[in-house]
Amino acid sequence: MTRRRWIADASTDTTASLIGAQATHLARVLRAQPGTHADIVANGRVYHASIASVSVEEVTFTLIEEIAAESALPITLLLSIFKFDRMEWAIEKATELGVASIVPIVARRTEKHLAEAAGKRVERWRRLAHEAAKQSRRADLAAIEEPVKLAARLERSSAAQQILLAEDERQTTLRQRIETALASAEADMPEFELAIGPEGGWTSDEIALFAKHNWQSASLGPRILRAETAAITAVAIASALF
Ligand code: SAH
Repeated sequence: MTRRRWIADASTDTTASLIGAQATHLARVLRAQPGTHADIVANGRVYHASIASVSVEEVTFTLIEEIAAESALPITLLLSIFKFDRMEWAIEKATELGVASIVPIVARRTEKHLAEAAGKRVERWRRLAHEAAKQSRRADLAAIEEPVKLAARLERSSAAQQILLAEDERQTTLRQRIETALASAEADMPEFELAIGPEGGWTSDEIALFAKHNWQSASLGPRILRAETAAITAVAIASALF
């Protein structure tokens, strides 16, 4: 049987601990006992560990040895904000697939009330990503950044290969874009940023803004996908090519 895996709230070189809700869950529901073995993620690494002490506020672990673990995909997903139930699904699945980070984007066609409510949702999105990271046995958390307007985010300089997914793009597929980027990369694995539009799609102004910032557009095929389908399809295609 595989051991349970936890993601530490705090750690040192030789110990790690779960604090607050995670500790309470371990103490009350799982009735954790000192001496029990578990895997724990701390400082982006996975360790085989043994429980040293248990209270409802804090459970501490002694780190025994590091376990080899996969690193995250070098993908930042710019995910336009869309209906929260579907967006949560996309965040969970993208985390399982291994993206390094997700940036919720306020796009022109993001519904106004969703854009306004997004700031208060971030904590929930982080919890979902935390659960998905645990479940998929990731060695690190997918970072969920604060929501930001598209124009502001595009101002940020980046060394990544920047690709926007656009249903109007008919020439170049995401696969071709990534293969070209990988072929021309030197020894280092390039980083990628992938942008997914909201339910109503990108506006022509936004497409022009992406082009101005040297983003390249890519297609996921001839069918129009829902935003959440487009998001996980894009990540799955990218990860298959790495
Ligand atoms: N404007 C569309 C819906 C947009 S789909 C309409 O209502 O007709 C939401 C987002 O998913 C798009 O902005 C795009 O980023 C992505 N997407 C969906 N289908 C795609 C495809 N075939 N190729 C590339 N991106 C796609």
